Amino acid sequence: MSATRTIGRFAPSPTGPLHFGSLVAAVASWLDARAAGGRWLVRMEDLDRPRCVPGAADAILHQLEAYGLIWDGEVLVQSRRDDAYAAALNQLQAVGQAYPCACTRSQLAAAPRNAEGEAVYPGACRTGLPPGATPRAWRVRVGDVSTCFHDRVHGRLCQTLETEVGDFIVKRADGLFAYQLAVVVDDAHQGVTDVVRGADLLWNTPRQIHLQTLLGLPAPRYAHVPLVVNAAGQKLSKQTLAPALPESGRGAVLAEALATLGHAPPAGLANAGPAELLAWASAHWKIENVPRRPVIAKPAS
Ligand code: GLU
Repeated sequence: MSATRTIGRFAPSPTGPLHFGSLVAAVASWLDARAAGGRWLVRMEDLDRPRCVPGAADAILHQLEAYGLIWDGEVLVQSRRDDAYAAALNQLQAVGQAYPCACTRSQLAAAPRNAEGEAVYPGACRTGLPPGATPRAWRVRVGDVSTCFHDRVHGRLCQTLETEVGDFIVKRADGLFAYQLAVVVDDAHQGVTDVVRGADLLWNTPRQIHLQTLLGLPAPRYAHVPLVVNAAGQKLSKQTLAPALPESGRGAVLAEALATLGHAPPAGLANAGPAELLAWASAHWKIENVPRRPVIAKPAS
């Protein structure tokens, strides 16, 4: 056992109620923290104001409670944290690691794509803005070196940010701070030791480690749990019309989430409710039993 107490977190974006895929991520981080006797925090990632849906944050918190996922302390709300993100951006600017970018979306449309389908920034503004150009976003410099980390589910992974991502945005053209910057500032602020989240964010991790290094912040451990996809192989999300978690039969849904995480409860718990299932699962939690591959949701989820 390490001397540091485990601190996990769940960081939903309030763009709609939780669906089965987000429940799987929430359950995994809750179990990982609770099984280690640690704290579990909730952070509302409402940075992207235009995408947030009024009432969704409250709905998410009620869903977590109803599924027995009780958090510790206050919920941290990102829309109240602009000063902390501005301070981090200042720190990057002060050491010449952040620069303004004038490129528009259409100018970047022809940029090469990485394996995730994201545009790799070709570095057009890296050495300065073209004459007369208006600065829009702020980007952070990356290097031509391999950034590696150990994922507790996927093992050792490496990415060369320069060729696979390019200098990435830390403050957007619409004035909002970017997810990558906010997440590292807040994970450090909350003392998070263990990030456990969906595998859709796996390849965001090297960007976050790069920012932690530049900002002198500690790197948490990472574990990326299987993504839940629909029959067409798309991640369950608002865009793919994933239904909200049901308000009855929660035990059965939770048992399905545990099975997705490689921790199917025994037959004796077939009619158990959330509290009993979570107690069983936290006593049996082994991250090495969590599968790597995406899992196809049952039609009802
Ligand atoms: N807010 C992000 C999402 O809902 C999760 C961020 C994270 O866990 O790092 O996809």
